Amino acid sequence: TFDTLDIDKTRSQLEEDHYGLETVKKRILEFLAVLKLKDDMKGPILCLLGPPGVGKTSLGKSIASALGRKFHRISLGGVRDEAEIRGHRRTYLGAMPGLIAQGLRRVGVNNPVFLLDEIDKVGHLSLHGDPSAALLEVLDPEQNSTFNDHYLNVPLDLSKVLFIATANQIDPISPPLLDRMELIRISGYTFEEKLHIAKRHLLPKQIASHGLKPGYVKISNEALLKIATGYTREAGVRNLEREIAGVCRAKAVEYANANDNEKTNTYCSEITIDDIVAILGVEKFDDDIAERMTKPGVVTGLAWTASGSGGILFIEATQMPGKGNLQLTGKLGEVIKESAQISISWVRAHSFQLGITTARTESTFFSQRDVHIHFPSGAVAKDGPSAGVALITALVSLFAHRCVPPTTAMTGEITLRGQVLPVGGVKEKIIAAHRAGINKVILPSRNRKDVDGDVPVNVKENIEIVYADNVYDVLQAAFDGEKIWMEPSSIVGVESRL
Ligand code: ADP
Repeated sequence: TFDTLDIDKTRSQLEEDHYGLETVKKRILEFLAVLKLKDDMKGPILCLLGPPGVGKTSLGKSIASALGRKFHRISLGGVRDEAEIRGHRRTYLGAMPGLIAQGLRRVGVNNPVFLLDEIDKVGHLSLHGDPSAALLEVLDPEQNSTFNDHYLNVPLDLSKVLFIATANQIDPISPPLLDRMELIRISGYTFEEKLHIAKRHLLPKQIASHGLKPGYVKISNEALLKIATGYTREAGVRNLEREIAGVCRAKAVEYANANDNEKTNTYCSEITIDDIVAILGVEKFDDDIAERMTKPGVVTGLAWTASGSGGILFIEATQMPGKGNLQLTGKLGEVIKESAQISISWVRAHSFQLGITTARTESTFFSQRDVHIHFPSGAVAKDGPSAGVALITALVSLFAHRCVPPTTAMTGEITLRGQVLPVGGVKEKIIAAHRAGINKVILPSRNRKDVDGDVPVNVKENIEIVYADNVYDVLQAAFDGEKIWMEPSSIVGVESRL
């Protein structure tokens, strides 16, 4: 096909198809403009990185249609066998060409846009070869003009293909592959953004796909927001679209029924909050935060889930008579368990200063009790160092009998000496905190740049962000500005005497 790239047209098409995502759209335009001037594909491969349902695939489609090229999506999730990329030799029973060759055959042209979906899920070196190495060959402009599919057994020219990759996470992508790609991050949407997306894109799309006309379903802003907050909990908008489809279905039945009985004048297109509950059933998610009671030992943390979206998580600590054991539950990984060990050591080392023990040398306090820390949603695996500050705060709160407000959330890695180290996924975490109704977030100081650069302004306006260099800063912010410890100068530290 011939490229029909017109920068102005592309800009308005991207604008029309997607709400928000300003930096992403700008980067895509730059990429396409360079492509037009240079007229070859020897640039880096764009990789759209973000949680599910934020519009990665549909951005890929927009790029293809802006260029006037055919679009084909290759799903790489679960590709374990090198032969799936490179094809089987024809001597094998049931031999087939690889996904790349199959894709070319399907589109019937040599310059399509191939969307390599979920490139982070492709397997590495194993018994069945190395799929990610084969992929590297596909993407390498020096090699891919003579790509050898084992089934075809003739060199295949892939140099005209425009590859775009998508991924949920960076870590699983093999380093050489990562090196070839330029990452464009898309993080989750806030409720306001979702409302706009729903109004401008999802609702009109669903109305049309249910055989209705634009004016037939009118959902008020409050009702749309209700669908987003009460029925979905996600960074993207895929479930939101599904719920809106549910509403459209109900309306389609109503309209068809009225039509059958020739009573279309009684059909009502307006949908209010009450109708939403009648159509979609009881709310699936209520405000997690609001229902939580404040209790010593319970702290709200911020997590970054495997799918790349942020969320809040609770930490519960309790003590009981025992022998100084630490018990951890909630399907925890190695790193998070170590964070828990560090927290308890830090709290023990500073127990006198924190007013937990009455004498500096009291050694029986901890040896006479067991501590149990649990992370609710026990079936969801959790790992990573970023729960450190929340763990320390939970333990201090437990032993000092002080409550932390449930609307205060925190994240940060800790060291044994009580320093707070920066963590990843800050933007996602803050957006998730905002979604969950958190009004104060405690972050490592060194994450300040992430907040200044990335976090949407309306989120920052609604959340107080406190930066912490060390555990004392965290505790002060968590206990509403109160210093519950004695200043180190007023006691001779056990630490320094040992
Ligand atoms: P992903 O590939 O990131 O998992 P999709 O591209 O499949 O997500 O997007 C899911 C749906 O959400 C699509 O219908 C898409 O059009 C819609 N969508 C996502 N983000 C936006 C946005 N910013 N504006 C308009 N529609 C969007």
